[in-house]
Amino acid sequence: MSNHNAPAFPYPIPEYGTEPYWAACNEERLVMQRCASCGQFRWQPAPICIHCQADGFTWSPLSGRGRIYTWTVVTHPIHPAAVAKVPYVVVEVELEEQAGLRMLSNLVDANLADIVFDAPVIVGFDRHPAGQLLPIFRLARP
Ligand SMILES: [Zn+2]
Repeated sequence: MSNHNAPAFPYPIPEYGTEPYWAACNEERLVMQRCASCGQFRWQPAPICIHCQADGFTWSPLSGRGRIYTWTVVTHPIHPAAVAKVPYVVVEVELEEQAGLRMLSNLVDANLADIVFDAPVIVGFDRHPAGQLLPIFRLARP
């Protein structure tokens, strides 16, 4: 059910240093900064490596595959745009490329009873009404 009077969800505003991330999302690619010195990925974007403090990096592609580290089911809408969406799932995904490399997102198209710790997930992209594609995750089927 849509309500044309409801405001849209808050919109991610690309800012200096994060434009390549959002541009890649718009091409349905998940990328993160990868240190040119030690090779570690980092999330969220930062001007220097959180592992070795080097400043060189590349925006490197990720497989989009990971596992559920933790999640919560939001049942109380904390924004007017969420009224029609509850319940929805906020998930923290550990990406397969690196232990401890985790990002927050939404888990969509899942029965709540099927969500378990360590379940495999795969990234997808969902278009915000303003046009930006946002990374979301779905349970991966074997
Ligand atoms: Zn490093």
